[in-house]
Amino acid sequence: ERKAALDAASGPGATSDGHKVPLLANVGGPADVPAAVAAGAEGVGLFRTEFLFLDDSAKAPSEEKQVEAYRQVLEAFPGGRVVVRVLDAGADKPLDFLTPADEPNPALGVRGLRSLLDHPEVLASQLRALAAASAGLPVYLEVMAPMVADRQDAKAFADACRAAGLAAKFGAMVEIPSAALRARSILQEVEFLSLGTNDLAQYTFAADRQVGAVARLQDPWQPALLDLVALAAEAAKAEGKSCGVCGEAAADPLLACVLTGLGVTSLSMGAASIPYVRATLAKYTLAQCERAAAAARATDSADEARRAVQGVLSGE
Ligand code: PEP
Ligand code: MG
Repeated sequence: ERKAALDAASGPGATSDGHKVPLLANVGGPADVPAAVAAGAEGVGLFRTEFLFLDDSAKAPSEEKQVEAYRQVLEAFPGGRVVVRVLDAGADKPLDFLTPADEPNPALGVRGLRSLLDHPEVLASQLRALAAASAGLPVYLEVMAPMVADRQDAKAFADACRAAGLAAKFGAMVEIPSAALRARSILQEVEFLSLGTNDLAQYTFAADRQVGAVARLQDPWQPALLDLVALAAEAAKAEGKSCGVCGEAAADPLLACVLTGLGVTSLSMGAASIPYVRATLAKYTLAQCERAAAAARATDSADEARRAVQGVLSGE
């Protein structure tokens, strides 16, 4: 009993009946690592590599500079998993050398994987730097692409990873509704999925994530968003592959239980949220999480979904 209580305070993420849900950290670079380690993160579920590129928007950082930064993050999680996202430039994170200046609608334009496929030398350099940084380290490196829309995108990314000689799992972020709808076909090309619920909400509800006036539609409890999460998680299960969440949704403790009930296999969030999510998940069984997920999906609004889940989880 004492061990169970200690585990709930600091150990690996799990439901009260022992269904494991690794709790991983979102980091922007080496500076975020100490907080992730202190929170007991089991690894990194989203390494946003943009920070390295934002210093100087006129050109890509040198491969040596990249190797150094990647290595510092990878070294911090021996035996753990580190999921690195290749550069997600464009839209809210424009880079002069990658992002077209004259886009009428940048969020729908050349961003994420699209800009890397237009500049294959930037992607290749990043993948080579990751291969060099991870060489000899006892860490499970996974590399994923942002803004994958379809199987063709997923194949182009996997081909680039193979060409760079990268010994890692390759994955696709699910942040466009088309990717959730056709998750099984994307999984023919890659080994895992990671749901970026911030962008997935933006594109599902046609609601700009930077516009406060439409924040109601950005609410990650929206049942339509939960339906898309369920589609991706079910596809991954059918293919025997994993499907994590690395958007803000994972940082909400009750929603983390709902995501677990929908079949999500890991949760990645800012380090500060990890203890709360760990403690809440440890209070409920997987069956309770599944009932909470079903109750949320049976509603017609984010507020109703929240109330339904509170009812299911407090009434049992
Ligand atoms: C997301 O879109 O949910 C995500 C994790 O990526 P970012 O917030 O960096 O766009
Ligand atoms: Mg995103």
